[in-house]
Amino acid sequence: MPLPDLAPDHLVVIAFGPGIGELILIRVPPDAWMVVDGCGRGETYYALKALTHYGARPSIVLVTHPHDDHSVGVAQGIEEWTPRDDKKTWPRIGMVLPPGDDIAARSADFMGGATLQAIAAIESRWKEFPACRWDVNVGDLELLGDAALRVLSPRADVRDEQIERWKARRPFDKNVLSTAILLSWHKRRILLGSDLVERPGYGWSHSLVLDPELGDHDLLKVPHHGSDAALHDDVLRPRARVPDPLRFFTPYSRQRLPRFSPGKGAHRVVSHGGTSYLTGLPRRHEEQSGRRETRTLTELQAHSAITFDPTTSGFPDCYVLVSIPPDGGPPTVEQGRGSIHVVSSSGEASPKKTWGDHLLDDDF
Ligand SMILES: [Zn+2]
Repeated sequence: MPLPDLAPDHLVVIAFGPGIGELILIRVPPDAWMVVDGCGRGETYYALKALTHYGARPSIVLVTHPHDDHSVGVAQGIEEWTPRDDKKTWPRIGMVLPPGDDIAARSADFMGGATLQAIAAIESRWKEFPACRWDVNVGDLELLGDAALRVLSPRADVRDEQIERWKARRPFDKNVLSTAILLSWHKRRILLGSDLVERPGYGWSHSLVLDPELGDHDLLKVPHHGSDAALHDDVLRPRARVPDPLRFFTPYSRQRLPRFSPGKGAHRVVSHGGTSYLTGLPRRHEEQSGRRETRTLTELQAHSAITFDPTTSGFPDCYVLVSIPPDGGPPTVEQGRGSIHVVSSSGEASPKKTWGDHLLDDDF
């Protein structure tokens, strides 16, 4: 089962995860791509595989924060997309630069291998070709084709303070440094929540000062795998323009995120309305489903008891693809195998059944 064909004039957002990690790909028509973070399994790097499949190169590569579950395959992708003999084709490469001037110092800081590799790759490209450097300062506007990206976080003083803590080797939560992005295109609004948290750091309260209507979105990449500390009701409460927004989550197996108990995590997101998808369950990649799934919140509360047969055979899997037409019509959703359409109770699919549900009864 290959990746779906893309409608030439649609904005396309694809979320992957796991493999290990979280990867978001965005295609602004006709051919402007952005790669956000990374995901892979063994030597299979999902961003490289998917962009090769679509015959594409990214215009922007962004690492939202220095955590290993967001860095897998980033270094390998950058290697591929920055040919030494043709720097004009290099993507803009965005990252909040960690302190420290050598790898050894950073290794001592408990950063994982994939993250260290990603940072090293980015810094070397920034040095070689400074025009590719994007420091992702809050408020920055960056163009991706005819879409506009706005950096929502971290607030400048928070960023400075956290970098100082990091330099001093005082403990802090690196999610506070996450770069959340609002993408605007033809009156559509796509909110990429990264791993930005509300606690600690008030990340979402600060972002809501920049744009009080963050709840007005067509699509939300739910922040930090739907952890309760990352959720803010003003971001989740749909506004009149889009009463039934799409939300997708990637899972994080080590912390068993998202949770599904009443009032928490995914349950809290779903209870605000909209239509929610998970790219996989909070478990190892090998144990993800080999099919497209639809599950109720009640079933998901006991997700560790769910077994799949068959399990996934690998890329392309554990993804959700959202295709948004330019004319204001409804988006369509295509689920990759392993992904889960979350419904509040059996028999009740979603408030609107028009968004790509025909795909669910496909065979494999
Ligand atoms: Zn994460």
